[in-house]
Amino acid sequence: MMNTALSTKHILIVEDEVKLTRLLEDYLHNAAFKTHSFANGLEVIPWLKENSVDLILLDLMLPGRDGLDICREIRGFSAVPIIMVTARIEEIDRLLGLELGADDYICKPFSPREVVARIKAVLRRAQPQPVSIQSSILELDPFSFRIIAGGHEVTLTAVEFQLLQVLYQHPGRIFSRVQLMDRIYQDHRIVSDRTIDSHIKKLRKKLNDLLPEAELIHSVYGAGYRYDPQPKITVEEYLS
Ligand code: CA
Repeated sequence: MMNTALSTKHILIVEDEVKLTRLLEDYLHNAAFKTHSFANGLEVIPWLKENSVDLILLDLMLPGRDGLDICREIRGFSAVPIIMVTARIEEIDRLLGLELGADDYICKPFSPREVVARIKAVLRRAQPQPVSIQSSILELDPFSFRIIAGGHEVTLTAVEFQLLQVLYQHPGRIFSRVQLMDRIYQDHRIVSDRTIDSHIKKLRKKLNDLLPEAELIHSVYGAGYRYDPQPKITVEEYLS
């Protein structure tokens, strides 16, 4: 079912390493995607004004015009899903701070298989959700730190509640650990990334007890976390 839904999707690859483009094309064609590619940043916007795609894989460092600039301009006229590709993992934190509106971030070197999986995940998010997931929108009670959903409730700690609140208020947006820390610990005390990870882990467990069929908080590798209610997918679906 998932394959037929994705079979006609058109991916634009903007990448100046030709070998990498060819490799991505091979994997994407095998996964039944159509592709189009550009190696020069200047060609992207004029083409996009005349053609439509379902997702853009956008490298950051490009001849002609860089990915940052291109991403900003695209967001001025289109909500098409964009996955930014960077050469350095540390770059992702800076990109998140710029709030470019990209949907995901991938760091080189990557496995083409991973890229295909991430593309599928972003496309899945861009699709309307089944009713069961829509109705799993949580109710947050800031006075008691309780979360109510589907007639059940769990009580969170103050930190867990604040974390959920930040993510929940901006569905789909990725927050880095630093951004989460800034919003939660306003006294600027020094807490490590691990602290955030461990609170998120406990928060996810509680949310999972509340809504076992949905995945609410997602970790974005190398970037941070995002709130985005999705049906849980099986390993078979993930690999399909
Ligand atoms: Ca490049």
